[in-house]
Amino acid sequence: MANTYNPYENMLQVLEQAAGTLGLAKDDYEALKYPERELKVSIPVRMDDGSIKVFEGYRVQHSSARGPCKGGLRFHPKVDIDEVKALAAWMSLKCAVANIPYGGAKGAVKIDPRSVSKGELERITRRFTVQIMPIIGPQVDIPAPDVGSNAEMMAWVMDTYSMFEGHAVPGVVTGKPLEVGGSEGRGAATGRGIMLAARQLMRRLGKELAGQRVAVQGMGNVGATTALILAEEGCKIMAVADVSGGLKTDKPEGLNMPAIYKHCYEDRKFLDTYEEEGTVRCSGNDVLTADVDLLVPAALENQLTAANAADVKAPCIVEGANGPTTVEADEIFAKMGKYVVPDILANSGGVVVSYFEWVQNNEGLYWTEEEVNAKLAESMSRAFDEVWNMAEKHNSTLRLGANMIALSRLVAARKIRGFFP
Ligand code: NAD
Repeated sequence: MANTYNPYENMLQVLEQAAGTLGLAKDDYEALKYPERELKVSIPVRMDDGSIKVFEGYRVQHSSARGPCKGGLRFHPKVDIDEVKALAAWMSLKCAVANIPYGGAKGAVKIDPRSVSKGELERITRRFTVQIMPIIGPQVDIPAPDVGSNAEMMAWVMDTYSMFEGHAVPGVVTGKPLEVGGSEGRGAATGRGIMLAARQLMRRLGKELAGQRVAVQGMGNVGATTALILAEEGCKIMAVADVSGGLKTDKPEGLNMPAIYKHCYEDRKFLDTYEEEGTVRCSGNDVLTADVDLLVPAALENQLTAANAADVKAPCIVEGANGPTTVEADEIFAKMGKYVVPDILANSGGVVVSYFEWVQNNEGLYWTEEEVNAKLAESMSRAFDEVWNMAEKHNSTLRLGANMIALSRLVAARKIRGFFP
């Protein structure tokens, strides 16, 4: 069957559902169904062999109603405009759930970053920055890392923008290295936030996080960091997957997460070259359907679908990735009585600490890792409680609860600002 899944349609369906449950009038949220701005750029770059290659890039700004637009830069060979539009809208919703003063945006370059040399990647990133420069800026739109990009690439974005301004502008991008105005705790922030969301969920269910058996899909920034932090908190990581396949174990102590973290994240190697005694190789789908207490999909969109949802055994799912669950899968999970902590709440730790980084850049005053982590914990706990209470009030899923909170904040901001002209 052809894959007709469209993440933007997925986002719109949930938005409509939230608006309906809140009893909003169509005019209240009509504008939120469309991104404010979509920019498509071509990125001509001289490759190491002297030839010129032209790559395709995008920056989509969904909403600036609550503040400057904010969202990551994805470097992936299969991105398309609908995916970037959906990711931009999810950022508006996520910043609203976290109640930080940002709107939403997302950018992307259609490329496999592993297929080019480091020099080529730097030239692509710098040229892309110049191409989107007319619409980014520390008070306008602030990029950050996402799939296929990292802190070093954010330093290139910061440097390129600063060269044009004639002075250092650290606040134009977040997720930077510490040496150029990055924040303590930013690298692990998304994973830490996911752990905090999982802990809040367990508390609500009268359970301890320590001892939970976990499966994690994705061994990049989000997946590897989440799995490592969960292991540090006493969870047993029973199965993990990356794009090369899965690995699982029956060992009561679970997988050796520090070793997997080093292999996959620090050394940037695939899981299929990792060796550990007492483990078995399996498919990525086997990891999603593993017999565990908690599942963290932390790779890409559209991983939990009508095709595999009924086979998912974990009673609790905390979404590390953006949009890993389709609307159909969500309905199946609701019928099965599963708890799904949605992406716009669960993985908001990254953008919350990005906000902290931007505040520090603007103030020129820097916080310790303890301060950052304490503020993150406070933010995640408040957001989780608000979502839980909203879902309880409307007898809805946590996803609908989170979307209702986000939508009501976006609509309130738009109403009080009024419509221009
Ligand atoms: P990354 O590029 O660092 O890692 C992605 C991982 O997913 C890699 O290990 C890759 O091998 C794996 N993967 C890709 N396709 C797969 C497949 N079909 N099956 C199994 N594994 C697969 O990206 P990241 O920054 O960790 O982002 C992961 C997700 O989290 C994305 O949805 C992203 O939008 C979201 N997210 C990222 C951040 C952040 O701060 N980086 C913040 C919030 C949300």
